[in-house]
Formats: sequence, structure tokens, C-alpha cells
Amino acid sequence: LILLDVMMPVMDGYTFLDRVKADPQLSLIPVIVMTQGDSEADEVNALAHGASDFVPKPYRPQIIQHRVASIINLRETAALANQFKYDRLTGIYSKRFFYQQVREILRQNPEEQYDILSVNIENFKLFNDVFGIKTGDRLICDIAGHFRKMEGEFELFSRFRAERFVMLNKHTREYDEEMFHALSQQLTELPNASKLNFRWGVYRIVDCSVPVERMCDRVMLAADSIKGQYMKYFAVYDDSLRNQLLQEQEMVDDMAAALEEKQFEVYFQAKYSLTDGSLSGAEALVRWIHPQRGFISPGEFIPLFEKNGFITSLDYFVWERTCCMIQQWKKMGFSTVPVSVNVSRADFYQADLAEVLLEMTQKYELLPSELHLEVTESAYTENPRQILTMVDELRKRGFVIELDDFGSGYSSRNMLNEMNLDIMKLDMKFIRSEMAKPADQGILRFIVSLAHWMNLKVVAEGVETQEQVVRLKEMGCDYAQGYFFARPLPPQEFEKIMYRTEAE
Ligand code: C2E
Ligand code: CA
Ligand code: CA
Repeated sequence: LILLDVMMPVMDGYTFLDRVKADPQLSLIPVIVMTQGDSEADEVNALAHGASDFVPKPYRPQIIQHRVASIINLRETAALANQFKYDRLTGIYSKRFFYQQVREILRQNPEEQYDILSVNIENFKLFNDVFGIKTGDRLICDIAGHFRKMEGEFELFSRFRAERFVMLNKHTREYDEEMFHALSQQLTELPNASKLNFRWGVYRIVDCSVPVERMCDRVMLAADSIKGQYMKYFAVYDDSLRNQLLQEQEMVDDMAAALEEKQFEVYFQAKYSLTDGSLSGAEALVRWIHPQRGFISPGEFIPLFEKNGFITSLDYFVWERTCCMIQQWKKMGFSTVPVSVNVSRADFYQADLAEVLLEMTQKYELLPSELHLEVTESAYTENPRQILTMVDELRKRGFVIELDDFGSGYSSRNMLNEMNLDIMKLDMKFIRSEMAKPADQGILRFIVSLAHWMNLKVVAEGVETQEQVVRLKEMGCDYAQGYFFARPLPPQEFEKIMYRTEAE
């Protein structure tokens, strides 16, 4: 704080005040001007030149003390208000200020239509991990700067937590993928951002009585609902999304009790040899028989459990139940076939996975080779080193490794090279799209020979028609699994298939 006398050598107080106010570094320092007696002209002049306050001469220390105290107090309040108003890292509006402003704008413009939008960076934690926190922070600032440059595009924008931005937008047009693709495209042009996925959410404000906080939560839920989806740039929060989220929440609330109460069941789907038509194996697939909702498809709950980690408990249950059934079938006198179980990528994060599986097979007096492990590519893409080491260890112990869903999504070129596998399972969608092509086109035949050249057996999944069987056989595919042969069946039904096989 500066106490400034108007009468000075070198320059007078007003000239000094002008220079201070013109310097961005100094201009924020509050200045109290000492005025002559009760001259009103001096007071007005001082304030006009940007002084914060004035005190009349002669000095009265008590008055100066109080004035200084009150200016400091004012400054601190203002600093607090700024802290509240702006996000510290990026300098754009903070979440709290955004809430407040949106409430205000909605109140003042009841005839206007607004939407809340949000955007976040997928896998930002991973980005921070790879590039470092500093680069992460810089990216966040660059994104904020980008929105600042787009001034006017959005009514209001703010940074919520971490890598999440929320904006208020006047509703002038319907939204489509193209628009959000273009917006995301611009963001990927920022430094280090070329590989990032941006997910947008839209919340249409129809009912202004919904608290703004809830609107913002919802728009973020919408954006999160498309996480990991290919070519999907935005999602709108609507009733169907709301119901889906509620159902998901219910499933999460119920999952632990469901496992305790034995609502999960393991079904078995037969695999057949295409060379001689014999029963060659089975896949264990989990089913949730919910007391109220009835049969829930694994497609609904597995992705959810993969996200929240419950999948490791459920998989453990499925593996144990599978081992238990194989042992029981042996005791019943069947010559059993190997059964594949699915191993999620989360399971690979358990350092003792190999021991856990080995102990389990020992408990039920099985050889590890009687249990096949289906591993998906996604496990590899996320953490290649760990998966490679674990797969090697599992194979060393005698487990047979099947690569699940080959040909779905983005295959990584290195994976086939690096991972030591035994069996390749062709994804059913891949097979379907290949089958739709003329016989001399497509790469299925090539993939099968490549697998054989690498000493892998090939299983075709989701085989539904005779025609598929004929063509797969002709291509040299070794095994097939699908509705054409058998659906996934409860253990007692699967036993009938084994009976039939033995009778033949
Ligand atoms: P997946 O491992 O690719 O399993 C094959 C899926 O294809 C199963 O669906 C099976 O019922 C279905 N399927 C088999 N033959 C045919 C066919 O001819 N036509 C059609 N349209 N579908 C066929 P399901 O049982 O609904 O399982 C879906 C996915 O859920 C599985 O895909 C797997 O990723 C996951 N999953 C199922 N059980 C488990 C489990 O115990 N643990 C883990 N981690 N994942 C599981
Ligand atoms: Ca599988
Ligand atoms: Ca599969």
C-alpha cells in the first residue's frame, strides 16, 4: 500500500499516480492520497486519478490506521472473490461461479432456450502418467485457451474438476456427431493431443427448477456413458439414459448380495471339432438370474463390473464353479473336455493370478490343461508388459491360452507377434462380415493360415448356419462354437450333450 503526498519534489502526486496506474505490475497496489485540509477539489482529483482513498492533512495517526486497515480488508475480500470466480490453473470461470452465473442467466432470460454441454478427455490419468503432470496441466490450460479464443461460441464456459469443462450454450440448432467431431478435431490439434479422445455431453434445459448442480452432474454422466465407444463423440442426457444409469446403479447395488445369494449361474456352451465333428470343449459363460428382473445378459453387467472391479470376484466364482463341475462330471464317469473360462483384464492386475488358478485346479484335482483361459486383446493394449509376463507364466504352469474376439475392434499389430498363445478365437462379427464377401475376397482364409503357420489352433465363434460351417471347414478352421451346434446351457443340459457324445 502506498501513502502518497500530493506535494512532492521531482513530480507531483497526480503524475506519480498516473504512472503507477499505467504500469500493470504496480497498478494493483492501493494508493491513499494525503489531501490538503478539507479541499473537495483535491479529494475528487485524487479519486479521479485512481486513488483508493484519501486522508486530510494534518495527519491523524488513528485515522490513517483505520483507513489502511479497511483498504487491506477490502483487498482481501476481493482476492477471495476472485479465487471463487476463477479456476486457479486455467484462469477461466470456476465451477462455483459457473453455477451462480447459470442460475442468474436462466432467471433473467426465461424466454431463451439453453443447453448445458460438457467435454472431457478420455484416459487423462494415463496421459498424465505417460507425459507427466506438467504436460497434463499445460494441455488443460491449452484447452481453456482454445475455448477463450472461441469467445462467443458458448454463452459461458468453465472448468470443473481435472479434465472436465462445462459450458452453457444457447440452443440454436440440433446437435449431431458431425458438430462434436469437428469440435473434438480442433482440440486434437493442440500440442500432444493428437491421440486423445474427447467425449461431449448435452443436457437440454427444459425444466429450470432442476438445480444447476444436478444439470451439470447429468451432462457429465451423459458424456461418461459413451466412454470407450468408437466413433461416438457425444451423448444427450434423456430418459432412456437416465433409466439405463438407474438400472446400472441398481445392478452395482445388488451385485455383492447377488453373489452371496447364488443368483449367478454358470452355463456351458459346447465347442466342436470341424475335422471330425466331435465335442472338443466348452466355454463357461456367466448368467445372472435376478429375483425381480429375471435373466440379465452378461453384456449388461460385465462391462459395469469391469469398470468397478467386481469382475475379479465374479470371475473367481465362475472359475471355481467350472472346476467344480468338471470334477463332478469326471466322478459321474464322463470323459470330460477342456472348458474355457474368460479372464478379464482386471484379473491380470492380480500378481498372484497364476497361483490362484493353480491352487483352484489342484483343489478340484484337475490338470491346468483342463482349463483354457480366454484373454481379450483389450487386456494387451492397456498393459502389454504385464500381460505378456503373466501369460508366459500361466502357460509355463500348463494352462492353455486362447485369444478371444480376434478381429474385433482395433487389433494391435505387435500382440500376435509378442504374446505366446495356443488358440485363436475369431470374433463372430468379424466372421460375419468376412462371410458376406465373395469367397475369393476377404482375409479370413489368410488369417487362418497365418494362425496355423504360428502353430495356433483356430476356433470360430458365433457360428449359426450350415453355410458358415462348410466355408469355415473348407478354410481349414479347426473348431467352431455357436448356436448352430448348441446354445450356452445350464450344467444339467450340457450333461445331455456329453451323454449323447458318449453314446455315439
Ligand atoms: P464372449 O466371451 O465373446 O462370449 C461369447 C458370446 O457369444 C456369449 O454371449 C455367447 O452366448 C454368445 N454366442 C455364442 N454363440 C453364439 C451365436 O451363434 N450367435 C450369437 N449371436 N451369439 C452367440 P454372452 O454369454 O451374452 O456373453 C457376452 C460376453 O460377456 C462374453 O463374450 C464375455 O466377454 C462376457 N462374459 C460372459 N461370461 C463371463 C465371465 O464369466 N467372465 C467374464 N470376465 N466375462 C464374461
Ligand atoms: Ca469368451
Ligand atoms: Ca468371444
